[in-house]
Amino acid sequence: MRKKIVAGNWKMNMTPSEAVALAETLKPLVATSEADVVFCVPAVDIVPVVNAVKGTNIEVGAENLYFEDKGAYTGEISADMILDAGAKYVVIGHSERREYFKETDEIVNKKVLKALEKGLTPILCCGESLTQREQGITIEWVRMQIKIALQGVSAEEAEKIVIAYEPIWAIGTGKTATTEQAQEVCGAIRVVLGEIYGCETAEKIRIQYGGSVNEGNAAELFAQPDIDGGLVGGASLKPGFGVIANA
Ligand code: PEP
Repeated sequence: MRKKIVAGNWKMNMTPSEAVALAETLKPLVATSEADVVFCVPAVDIVPVVNAVKGTNIEVGAENLYFEDKGAYTGEISADMILDAGAKYVVIGHSERREYFKETDEIVNKKVLKALEKGLTPILCCGESLTQREQGITIEWVRMQIKIALQGVSAEEAEKIVIAYEPIWAIGTGKTATTEQAQEVCGAIRVVLGEIYGCETAEKIRIQYGGSVNEGNAAELFAQPDIDGGLVGGASLKPGFGVIANA
């Protein structure tokens, strides 16, 4: 039985003091969640949020990492920095990074490998654009993203990864995929994981849905057989995240 995982993606919101205040607000609201609860926060917020949630059921994640260990990469953040700051998860390949920062599937793959090598849990994002959905290539597209992102990842390592299916047209738009659409693609992701690693491993890998998840739709989405929780953007910044984490 896969344990559900509900992660907030705070994006480029919350100064360190605002982040601590939000963590304090959300702490009691997610305390009864039976899922793994993760706050993925801006790099400068990791240490204060880790301190704020110490002793609770909340883990902290970064929103990005660089695939080199250290050196002349101005502005980047390494896996060791993230770990030493106290975070355990890292979002990799979010569509905003792919679109605005030109991250390719190959870069995403390098980041996944580095995170796993260092012992961080990747939340690996994939998903199609509206054009791709209209062209009828959603499943092929997502299969390809997963196959490239997982190049060189062993079955043992793959079990630790969390995959987030996030249709780009549903992110921050208020448009949620229907439960059928979300389940269809999450099910297809499990099929491709089975092709790569075998069914036993595929059944262990957690797959989230992300894209305008809110208090009203979370329970139905998370009840789907291949949806093991959510990656939540906008709604993770509000007290309603407590309802989502308990859904
Ligand atoms: C996200 O950015 O990962 C996301 C799912 O955003 P939102 O929930 O705001 O659509």
